[in-house]
Amino acid sequence: MKKMSEIGIGFAAILDDNVDETWIPTTETVIECTECKDKIYYKDFGPANSAFACECRNVRIGSYPATLAPYPNFMTITYRIEPKMYEIPYEEYCKIKGIECKKKEE
Ligand SMILES: [Zn+2]
Repeated sequence: MKKMSEIGIGFAAILDDNVDETWIPTTETVIECTECKDKIYYKDFGPANSAFACECRNVRIGSYPATLAPYPNFMTITYRIEPKMYEIPYEEYCKIKGIECKKKEE
């Protein structure tokens, strides 16, 4: 059995609830499986939706309770082969997801 690696990052979705509503994200984090090219979007995950794997199950998303952190859970990314992680503009994410981008009211 291959050894699994794991990294933990905070849930942006939880932090979003604590900031004022005029806050607009500018970028979105993409976790791309280098094996099946499946793309996982960081904003799609939160405490209620925190278990997911890419098509080939190389990259798996999970969570565990955080202690001494400003958010209740850590998001964990488990993988056999390291995925690519990079930022895309928030507008691009909205287009991919077919959702309306939150916009600042002038
Ligand atoms: Zn994959």
